[in-house]
Amino acid sequence: MAKTWYPVVDYSVCTECGTCVSMCPHSVYDTKKAPTPVVKVPDSCVDHCHGCGNRCPSGAITYIGDDTGWTPPNGKKAESDGACSCGGGSCCG
Ligand code: SF4
Ligand code: SF4
Repeated sequence: MAKTWYPVVDYSVCTECGTCVSMCPHSVYDTKKAPTPVVKVPDSCVDHCHGCGNRCPSGAITYIGDDTGWTPPNGKKAESDGACSCGGGSCCG
């Protein structure tokens, strides 16, 4: 549970591919709204997970509370290697 860590979607660059909604195993996104990503249960997001952000092809996802220096690995916002700090755990599918 993470009240100070959850994804925020920049809808100006999101292509509504649905990747983030379908890959998150913690039901953070509202699957009824898919493929549009709507953060429904931010408290269920895993602290410091970058799973959905690492898979977003548009670089549309960033995280509230992110102090890791992570930036989206894909899309026009890409700047770094995008390594996931969770170490490839279950949160990354
Ligand atoms: S994939 Fe990870 S970062 Fe994305 S919403 Fe789910 S738990 Fe949070
Ligand atoms: S993965 Fe990225 S582009 Fe695809 S729906 Fe999610 S936020 Fe939008």
